Amino acid sequence: PSAHANLKDKSDRATNEQVLDPRTRLILFKMIGRGLLDEVNGCVSTGKEANVYHALTPTKDHLALKIYKTSILVFKDRSKYVTGEYRFRRGYSRNPRKMVRLWAEKEMRNLRRLRAAGIDAPEPLEVRENVLVMSFVGNEGWASPRLKDTELTPEQLTPLYLQLVLTVRKIFHVCKLVHADLSEYNILYHNGALWIIDVSQSVEHDHPAAFDFLRTDLQNVEEFFGRGGVSTLGLRRTFEFVTRESLCGEGESEETVLERWIEEREAAGDEKEGTGEGVDVVAKGRVKGDEAHEDSIFMKSFIPRNLNEVYDPERDVEKVTRGEGKNLIYADTIGVVAPEDDGPTPKPKPAKKEGKGV
Ligand code: ADP
Ligand code: MG
Repeated sequence: PSAHANLKDKSDRATNEQVLDPRTRLILFKMIGRGLLDEVNGCVSTGKEANVYHALTPTKDHLALKIYKTSILVFKDRSKYVTGEYRFRRGYSRNPRKMVRLWAEKEMRNLRRLRAAGIDAPEPLEVRENVLVMSFVGNEGWASPRLKDTELTPEQLTPLYLQLVLTVRKIFHVCKLVHADLSEYNILYHNGALWIIDVSQSVEHDHPAAFDFLRTDLQNVEEFFGRGGVSTLGLRRTFEFVTRESLCGEGESEETVLERWIEEREAAGDEKEGTGEGVDVVAKGRVKGDEAHEDSIFMKSFIPRNLNEVYDPERDVEKVTRGEGKNLIYADTIGVVAPEDDGPTPKPKPAKKEGKGV
């Protein structure tokens, strides 16, 4: 009885802030009855599609409850994330409860995949209809801030940036997912590291629009860390870094490669600057402008997922064999890169960082 009285009190708080429908309240009651939860506290976040609550287990461990809203309007514009996905192949259910349940289950599965790959993300514990129970990312009941809400120096942001690009690559190749809503809003800064959250809309890496989502994700990363004063890799090269099948030479780690690519980009910028006959600032602006222009073309260009989607595969394969593969935006992503084509590498560098990582 005390458990129920407890829930009534505690979930009333939650209810007062954001109305929970009777069915959702019943789910919470049952979780308390089973001893999974002891109390449900206030809202950590109210969003368009879900609210997140803080909760405690009977042993006073902290949990986060993500409770998806069951209004159908909210989920209408999500259909772009599910077209082409196996689980949703029978079409999009018009029953909102069922739809929301599928979203919550999808988030649970995606979180599991992230955790299985060793990525920092909340540990999903269980899902019941529209309620996802997961570990709480915070300290003593205080949720860790979103990356957006931090004030970090370029020196602090740089290692986090490197880590994040490596994580996105891992999500792509190991979890076989694209986050599809990655930004400083869906990354928590927790105990000095970046934690990935909010993966209900993440798609399989072979989803028809996976590359479009990935490109937007990487643009968000590029812009956020660029604004923060980090020397970034640039959108196109980051896209290449994330999608490319194999990256490392003998004794190189992915991190070493990433650092080398960034150095190369900086060096290429400096080199072009030097040719400007003393008008360094203008030249620098021009280099940046060129690249911004290329990136904006890249943002708009169609990236085929596979050979079936290539408009004229024979022409393109020929191009690559002639050594013009560098001009082919998607050459590497569909595996037609000529062996000697190593992307825009300005000049060979002494391998000073060799043997640093595994
Ligand atoms: P939404 O779909 O509303 O964006 P999110 O999954 O991004 O849902 O969660 C919204 C907010 O709730 C996050 O920005 C974060 O502040 C908080 N939050 C989400 N999950 C957790 C968690 N496991 N631990 C702590 N806070 C969380
Ligand atoms: Mg979010």
